[in-house]
This record gives sequence, structure tokens and C-alpha cells, in this order.
Amino acid sequence: MNKKAANLSWLEDLNPQQQTAVTYGDGPLLVVAGAGTGKTKTLAYRVAYLIAQGVNPGKILLLTFTRRAAQEMLRRAAHIAQRGSPATVRVWGGTFHATANRLLRIYAKAAGLSKDFTILDQGDAEDLIGLIRHEKGLHNREKRFPRKRTCLAIYSRCVNGSLRLKDVLERYFPWCAAWEEELRPLFKQYVSRKQERNVLDYDDLLLYWVQLVSDEKFANRLSKRFDHILVDEYQDTNKLQAQILLGMRYGNNNIMVVGDDAQSIYGFRGATVRNILDFPKEFPGTSIVKLEQNYRSIAPVLETANLVIAGAKERYPKNLWSDREEGERPKLVTCKDETQQNEYVIQQILRHYEEGIALHKQAVLFRAGHLSDSLELELTRKNIPYHKYGGLRFLEASHVKDLIAFLRLAENPRDEMAWLRVLQLMDGIGPGTASQAIRHVVEHGNSPESIGTFNVRPSARKQMAAFAETVSDLVHAGSSHPALQIERIRRFYDPLLHKLYENPGARSRDLVSLEQIASGYRLRRDFLVDLQLDPPTSTGDLAGPPHREDDWLVLSTIHSAKGCEWDVVYLIHAADGFLPSDMATGSEEEIEEELRLTYVALTRARDFLYISWPLRYYHRWYAMSDSSSYAQPCRFFTDDVMKSLDEVYLEQDSEVDRRSEATNSRDIAERIREMWEE
Ligand code: ATP
Ligand code: MG
Repeated sequence: MNKKAANLSWLEDLNPQQQTAVTYGDGPLLVVAGAGTGKTKTLAYRVAYLIAQGVNPGKILLLTFTRRAAQEMLRRAAHIAQRGSPATVRVWGGTFHATANRLLRIYAKAAGLSKDFTILDQGDAEDLIGLIRHEKGLHNREKRFPRKRTCLAIYSRCVNGSLRLKDVLERYFPWCAAWEEELRPLFKQYVSRKQERNVLDYDDLLLYWVQLVSDEKFANRLSKRFDHILVDEYQDTNKLQAQILLGMRYGNNNIMVVGDDAQSIYGFRGATVRNILDFPKEFPGTSIVKLEQNYRSIAPVLETANLVIAGAKERYPKNLWSDREEGERPKLVTCKDETQQNEYVIQQILRHYEEGIALHKQAVLFRAGHLSDSLELELTRKNIPYHKYGGLRFLEASHVKDLIAFLRLAENPRDEMAWLRVLQLMDGIGPGTASQAIRHVVEHGNSPESIGTFNVRPSARKQMAAFAETVSDLVHAGSSHPALQIERIRRFYDPLLHKLYENPGARSRDLVSLEQIASGYRLRRDFLVDLQLDPPTSTGDLAGPPHREDDWLVLSTIHSAKGCEWDVVYLIHAADGFLPSDMATGSEEEIEEELRLTYVALTRARDFLYISWPLRYYHRWYAMSDSSSYAQPCRFFTDDVMKSLDEVYLEQDSEVDRRSEATNSRDIAERIREMWEE
């Protein structure tokens, strides 16, 4: 091909294997490759290439793990095509769930849904199951019936893994196996209740989609809608998502998926690496491209990462190499305690910053959201700005959920959970009265304004009237700006906020942030959908796009760091019990997933990698007879791995002999395990 003539000179940015993938013709294509080999880059170039070849951008579907990832790739694709082509705006890009939402609104009728369905988030779905569990009297059985959260987890496993209830119970929830007979009707009712109420939980979005394409007629129609489908991070998709793709390619097999089995870290949510392995079987005629050069990391960092993943029992060997030979070996830093770890990390951050690496090119990674608590305090004290990804509970905060529930019931007056939530905010209205009120609305043809004629005790009348007025305003404000609707809700809700919750000032500020996010939307429905399917992942997201001159350090859980890269990475709390997390060392499979998670963390680093662990932990979170105990480093740092690291011991207490104390004292992992024993 004459690349210059076709104005495809930008293909020269890619290596020959990447070029093969980007310029591949029709048919299924699988790219399996290790971290940092340019899988995501290849996908972005493929989008640009397809558009350059005349494919209609509106007929390209790009599925990614987060909305942010899709936006970033499309921005890249537009940039690659040089003209900064706005055509990529028309590409369908986003997560499986967000795409399901878009398609299901278009094909609502065929899916047996009404277009104005609302979405139950995890907490609402649990509450609905809890409600039905209660109605069925299952909560007060002699032997304890599974909690609502466990019920939903069981249900979700069945749905996402396309598995039978019996098998799920046996395999993942053996302690609940005795309840199979009760769980089945509970789930049945959960499903019919959602249907009656025109609400979908997260799993339903995929489930309805798969049902839609399991009908030949629709599979045909939907396949025609997209000429090309591209999927990033395929190793973290589940069985249902694989089925969806099969259905979507009923009449056309142009599909490209990229992934790395060594980075599969969502097994706990039903993702399965089998999807990658079975892809060639499911899509006959698949070509496979392997990428082996890692462009991200310097060789010493890659060596450590390769040695860590070599410890995996099940894996498909890859020859990852980097030609960036120069650079420091990663450091394994043993700190006296968490305070010293914070001091050390901050010191290095500032040093690198002084040397010219901006804050946002540096990231601190950790296994669980709370592990950065004390570091955050220290950063705030030192005035170092940061954004935190993952582990953010903004949308799960009660006051935020309250406010969203108002919008939801205005959008879908059948949304029972939204009604239950807001009605019970008022004085003297408990679950009983709230249920009666909901029945009243149902009997009045689901007209939200009929709440105004519901009879309450005289003492509650005034508040109820104000509530009815709010609801009525919202219903009539259907097409007005969602930010204005939030303002209207706050007029009613703010006084309640002060009565209901501690710390109303901070909560009120959250609502202002929510109003700000809403101002970026024209339609209430779009705002609700984005909030629930692709919630703001960092406190920074709430503030809108950062100013150009802003710079901030990145803090992130390892899960949320997937696919990203930074010049400097600090992996903190690399102590056994924290990494691997003691919550996830029950089975060999779980430990393997923790190993892959560690691999994901290490492979985020481009030039510098610091792994640190505090030797001594003080028990702030739980009462223990001792005030502290000693940790062991992460078990995945075997002797071989250690040889690739430079060990640094920060100054220890003089009276403490680090090694003997560490081995003689009871290991922290064991102590944390004990917390969960009856
Ligand atoms: P991960 O497995 O972590 O998702 P990935 O395989 O998707 O990684 P990318 O994020 O696409 O890898 O690329 C990693 C880095 O390597 C990026 O900075 C990218 O720009 C760079 N890169 C990829 N291919 C090339 C290339 N051919 N030449 C130069 N740089 C490249
Ligand atoms: Mg990637």
C-alpha cells in the first residue's frame, strides 16, 4: 500500500505487528499482548484508519472499561487523523452498560420496556431485594437467611456468568446452598417487580441486550447498525458480554478485541479470561496478532514485573521486552511505620517534581480505597493537590442518593425505590405509610402529582403539601435544565438535610457540586444515566475540567489504574494482608487474581517505581490488646523478584531489631484474618 498517497503516513508511528492489526481487513481479529505493548494505542489508530478508509463513524462501536477511556481514545483517534477530525464524535464509544442503555432506549418496545426506564444502582437493587425478602418473611427465619447484599451477589453471579442458581450456590456460596428453594422465588419476584416498576439494575442492562440479540431478527438489525466493533480490555469481560458480542455480529463479523490474560482482575465480578481463549472458536476465521515490545517501561521495571507474573500458575507465556535499557532499578522500601512511609513518598514526589516531573505524571497506587487515608491528610497539610480515583463513595452518600431519588421519580413515576426513599425523609413517615402512599400513586394511574391527595396525619400535612408541590414542579419541569430542577429540589430538601444528617455544611456543598455537574447536561435523563452508569470517579471530576495550569498528584486504587501509565509510580502498603488483601486470599483463584493485580500495579510505571511497606502497623481501626503489630512484605516478592529490586531500609527504631522482631511477632496477616473469625 502506498501510505503516503493515501495520506496514511501516521501509520509509521506503529511497529509492523501494530500496523497489521490497524490495517486489517474485514473479519474477526484478536490482539493478545502484555502490558504497555500498545494495545489501546492500536485500537485508537484502528478507529482513525477505518474512518480514513471511508467507514461511517456512526457505524463504529468502541467498547471500553470506562467512559474516560473511550473519550481519551476518540480524542487520540481524531488527533491521529491530523485534521483533528470531528468525525470521531459520531463514533459510539463507551462502556458496555452505557451502550446497552442507549440501545435499549432505541429498541425499548422490542425489549418489552418503556423508554423512560430508570436505573437502580447497586444500593437500590440491594434495598429492593431486601424489601421483597422482608415481605416474604424470610428475614426472621430461625436459621439466618442470606443478607440482601449476598442475595444480590448470588443473583448477579447467575446472570453475569450465565450460570444456574444451583451451580452458583455450590461453587461460590456453599454456605447459602440450603436456601436454594427460597432464593429462586425471591429472584423471580425481584425480576417481576423491576419489570412492573420499569426499572433496570446494572445486570439487566446486559441481560436485556443479550435477550434482544438472541432474537434472529434483532440480531440481524443490530449487526447492521455497526460496521465495526472494537473492544478494549477484553480479559475483564464476562460471559454475558461475550454473548452480546456474538449476537451483535450475527450478520457481519468485523470485530477486533484486545486484551491481556495476565491483567485479568475482575474475576470477583464474574469476568472470565476464557473469553479471550475462546474467542477464535466463537468467531471462526479469527486472526491473532501478538505484540511483544513494551514501549512504556524501562527494562529494569519490566524485569521486576515479568518476574512477578512468572509466579502465576496459569498463564500464557509472553516475551515482553523493552529497548529502554537505561534507568534505575525499582526500589523496595521498608519503612518503620505508615507515617514514615508517607514522609518518604512525599519526599520523593517533591524531589521528582523539582526535577521536572509534573505531579499528574506521578501516581500513588494502593489495593483498597482506605489505604490512602493518612497520606491524604498529609498531602492536604502540605498543600499538595491530588485527585483520587476509585474507592470514592460520593454517589453512595445518603444525601446525594436522596437528591437523585427526586429526579428519578420525576423521570419514572413507577420507580418504587425512589419514592420509598424520598417519602421517608419526611417527619413521621415510615415504611408503612410510605408503602400506602406509593399504592395511592399507583391507583391514580402512576400520576406523581396524585401524591398531593394522599391523606396523612395533620402534623405531617404541611410538609407533605410542600413535597407534593415540589414533585409537581419537577413533573412540569420535565424538559427544563436538570441543574434548575436540582435547585428546585434543594429548596425543599435543604432544610431536611439539616435535620436529618450530621455535618450538613459539607453535605450541602456536595449538592452544589452535583448541581454543577448537572449544568453540563440538557436532559434530566442523560444526567441520571451518566451519574449511575459512569459516576464521577474522582473528586476532581466534580469540579469540571481542570484549568490548564492546574497540576495534581494522582492517587488511585490499582483497579482504577487499569490501562493508565505514569512516569513515577509509588505502590504503597505492599505488605502481606494488604497486598494481597486478606479479604481475597481464601482460594487459589483469588490469590492468583491478587498476583495479577500486583502485576497491573507494577506495569503502570514508565521511569521510576517505588514499592513501599510499613513494618509496623498501629491498630487504629480495631481494638486489640497490643497497640501495634509487624508486617511481612507482599508474598509475591519472591527471592527471584527481590534480586531485581534495590532494597532500601529507612531508619528504624534503635531498640528494635527489624528482622528478628518481624519474624518473631505474629504476622499481621494472621491478625487481620482473626478479625473475621466468629
Ligand atoms: P495496558 O496493557 O496497560 O492497557 P497497552 O498495551 O494498552 O497497555 P498502550 O497504553 O496503548 O499499551 O501503550 C503504552 C505506551 O506505549 C503508550 O505511552 C504508547 O503511546 C506507547 N506506544 C505504544 N506503541 C508504540 C510505538 N509503536 N512506538 C512508540 N510508542 C508506543
Ligand atoms: Mg490498554
